Amino acid sequence: MIIRADLHIHTALSPCAEVEMLPPLIVERALEQRLDLIAITDHNSSANVQAVMDAARDTGLKVWAGMEFQTREEVHTLCLFDTVRQLRALQAVLELALPHLPNNPAKLGEQFIVDAQGDFLAREERLLLVSAGTALESLIREVNALGGMAIPAHIDRAENGLIPLLGFVPPDLPVPALEISRHISASEARARFHIPAHYALTRASDAHWLDAIGNAITELDFTGTRSVANVACALREGRYALRTT
Ligand SMILES: [Zn+2]
Ligand SMILES: [Zn+2]
Repeated sequence: MIIRADLHIHTALSPCAEVEMLPPLIVERALEQRLDLIAITDHNSSANVQAVMDAARDTGLKVWAGMEFQTREEVHTLCLFDTVRQLRALQAVLELALPHLPNNPAKLGEQFIVDAQGDFLAREERLLLVSAGTALESLIREVNALGGMAIPAHIDRAENGLIPLLGFVPPDLPVPALEISRHISASEARARFHIPAHYALTRASDAHWLDAIGNAITELDFTGTRSVANVACALREGRYALRTT
């Protein structure tokens, strides 16, 4: 069975995202794009995840609890979980590692916490677009220990990509996959960056506005529940394909 997955989507909580990125609109757009599985991955926060899960209830769309964590090395890393409970455990780690700096909405953008209807609940006052003190390898260990899956995001991108920041792809990260941007094909990425064959390569929209949702996805071939374990298994076994529209 082919599962159409977009595992990197921001909400209005991310300062760089449009204010239209509200739970019911994200779900509506994902369904229009015939997606089966999405992950909500705001920068260094989990606060809007439950609202999107609630908005998707009874629609057939599966929503994972995620976060785009910015590590000490400034590497953006998707942290993906089946449940909000697991994500909250990671949030507790983040709370200790994130510097307490105020956001500057005029310069960086607003950070809105909303409910399942998309109504305003609060402003996140803390600066989210900043590196936490957690190193990449410790983060991945933490995510794995919590039963989640980590995927370094847009590894080829100049801003916050693993390859420009580290200069190479570490051969032994305990992750099933690396996310490449839409600007490079999987075969080009493997050749240019000497990516070890045991890493799968994923693609996602990294949507910051509604129209972008589903524009770049990973199709996965598996049966059973749309769980992190099943997706990780499909990635490890090469049962996937990248699609861009
Ligand atoms: Zn990013
Ligand atoms: Zn992102």
